[in-house]
Amino acid sequence: DIAARTHAESLAVADPHREVSYAELSRETDAVARGLADLGVDPGDRIALLLPNSVTFTTAYFGAMKRGAVPVPVNLRFDPETVGFVLENTDASALVTSGRFEETVTDRNAGVDHLIVADGDAGVGYDELLDDGGATVDVAGRRSDEIAEILFTSGTTGRPKGVTHTHGNLVANGWGYVRCFPFYSSETVGLTVVPLFHAAGLNVTTTPLTLVGAENHFLPTWDAETALETMAARGVTAAMFVPTMLIDLLEHGVEKYDLSALSHVIVGGAPMPKERIEAVETALGVTLLEGYGMTETTPAAAVNRPGQDVRKAGSIGPPMRDIVDVRIEDPETGETVGTGRRGELLWHGDTVTPGYWNRPETNEEAFVERDGRTWLRSGDVGRMDDDGHLFVEDRLDDMIVTGGENVYPREVEDVSYELDGVVEVGVVGTPHDRLGEQVTAVVVSDGSVTAADVKSICRERLAEYKLPRSVEFVESIPKTSTRKVDKVALRDRFSEDG
Ligand code: ATP
Ligand code: MG
Repeated sequence: DIAARTHAESLAVADPHREVSYAELSRETDAVARGLADLGVDPGDRIALLLPNSVTFTTAYFGAMKRGAVPVPVNLRFDPETVGFVLENTDASALVTSGRFEETVTDRNAGVDHLIVADGDAGVGYDELLDDGGATVDVAGRRSDEIAEILFTSGTTGRPKGVTHTHGNLVANGWGYVRCFPFYSSETVGLTVVPLFHAAGLNVTTTPLTLVGAENHFLPTWDAETALETMAARGVTAAMFVPTMLIDLLEHGVEKYDLSALSHVIVGGAPMPKERIEAVETALGVTLLEGYGMTETTPAAAVNRPGQDVRKAGSIGPPMRDIVDVRIEDPETGETVGTGRRGELLWHGDTVTPGYWNRPETNEEAFVERDGRTWLRSGDVGRMDDDGHLFVEDRLDDMIVTGGENVYPREVEDVSYELDGVVEVGVVGTPHDRLGEQVTAVVVSDGSVTAADVKSICRERLAEYKLPRSVEFVESIPKTSTRKVDKVALRDRFSEDG
């Protein structure tokens, strides 16, 4: 609404079918808020959003917040059973979806009090919901500790967990990114193709860009060609991707697109292969800024900034000190480890969630008290160098224990990427009779790489026990719904064969 006053006529959000200005966004979200009130949705009620990246998602999301209700974006790749779980777990009183998802919305899911459907036949039509008459909705007076949204984790390691974000979390997160990214302004033309049900799509681009009155273009699905065409046609200046998307862009080839407007690309959500950073920067003509975050940190936690003195390949940047503190500790003893040493990352600060929704046992495990403060355990292993730059090694869960030695898959992956013919690689531990686990590298190659090449470059760079005993070639690597390498699927597949 601040942006609605200062940038009324500028384009706010656009999708392939529709675009709205800040003034229109403000009016339409008012209409949603009034419509929800007419339906009987009360402040505090949860409203699930099963919608693709679109203008409708945005108006439903901000409209729900204007009503004082709590939007719950739902992963579009969830099967009906998991959607049902999310609706039950959050006790949602309304579900906003589109005709496309009518199949997912089974009888059980439709059991919410209010089913609101854009472009479909069931429930209340989204257009009918809009209540155009009436006064502007007053949003002043929302407390910073009130829950603003519930966002589910990616479900990389198990069943997705609902994370609560307060208004305070969202404000700290939004302005935190704006302070780190001077290229976020009302002049920015952003691209959001990372799903809006993921912290990256929602809170690295969309909510901060809305704060500054920027333009934001949504794409509903990932496809390298459409992304490149949109960046060229719309003159996109800043975009956020997860690493596998950048790998896809390189693989697709970017030469024939005019990306001259593009200046900064943000990457995060999973480890960015160190060996591909330069290739991406050269191909796209941009500065690539890697950041790290979790749904549990809204996700603002650590990020590289443009023009920062030292940039180090593979670093997720310094922690965002004005909003968070990081602690690196031995996961066994809880003692902090020194500079340069590996330990589990713990987070404390303004962007850290007050807790998981309706999951007391998970809250019990995730938060710990240290020196009188409450810290969130990340489950990620990292280290900090002398300059205060953070490096994320891997997830504790993904660590391979082979013959009593610990191997972080990422290290083996980074070395494998030194081979130009390696398009993509995922390293996992698979069962081994004598060693417990063995290092297995799963590789997508352009045809020029052999198993011996992978083993030999690893032998040059890494200690003997880290070498992949097995190198498997595949057509493509399985991805999760947020396009992270699906390590669980990889492990399952090559454990059966082995
Ligand atoms: P779940 O918690 O349900 O298993 P998830 O952890 O993948 O899924 P998200 O909250 O979307 O859910 O992702 C956060 C995680 O992503 C981090 O804990 C970390 O493991 C990983 N991650 C994010 N950014 C980076 C990065 N730059 N480098 C390496 N890993 C990253
Ligand atoms: Mg997680």
